[in-house]
Amino acid sequence: MVVVDYFRDIKRSLLSTVEGMAVTMSWVFREPMTIQYPYRKRDPKTSVGGPDTLPERYRGFLEVDIDICSACLACLRACPIECIAIDVAKIPPPADDPEGKPVRAITRFDIDLAKCMYCGLCSEPCPTGAIRHTQHFEGAMTSIEHLVARFVVPGKPVVPFKVTKGETPQTVPKGSIIERLVVKKPWDLPPIEFPK
Ligand code: SF4
Ligand code: SF4
Repeated sequence: MVVVDYFRDIKRSLLSTVEGMAVTMSWVFREPMTIQYPYRKRDPKTSVGGPDTLPERYRGFLEVDIDICSACLACLRACPIECIAIDVAKIPPPADDPEGKPVRAITRFDIDLAKCMYCGLCSEPCPTGAIRHTQHFEGAMTSIEHLVARFVVPGKPVVPFKVTKGETPQTVPKGSIIERLVVKKPWDLPPIEFPK
């Protein structure tokens, strides 16, 4: 009986090896499930190493379409770790109405992407969809201050967007703003004074 058991065990071992190899071989000629980061390339027409392989609701870098920001400050209040800085001030009336009243304007809207924990609490209450997560996540910089995204050009205040009930504000393609401000910046920019 010992001899019979011995050969039965050998048979079982061989069968389980063949079964295991059959599963392995069945994957050899299929499309890979994994993507070779950072060289991932699912659709060569859209990008190489770009954000096209991530889900639509991925919480990557934040961006703000300042043209549809109503300056309600809901995002600033919602952020638990204070990485959003917004300044709103009165600026002189426009040139075509010199006698008019001073105008309320956004003079600064910065987000510290190095500090952000990508929780999404700021984008939830935004009434216009101006602040949103993108699918960008690559922002390695030798100087961390370049990860502060500045959505208002210093010295060029922006008059807040007026929200109309039932109207969906028009915006630019998601990701295009943060691409310009952070993602496409050279990684080895020299240090600058940290935005206050
Ligand atoms: S995602 Fe979270 S941590 Fe980042 S700015 Fe928004 S609320 Fe703050
Ligand atoms: S981004 Fe949205 S929530 Fe933040 S101030 Fe502008 S409109 Fe308000």
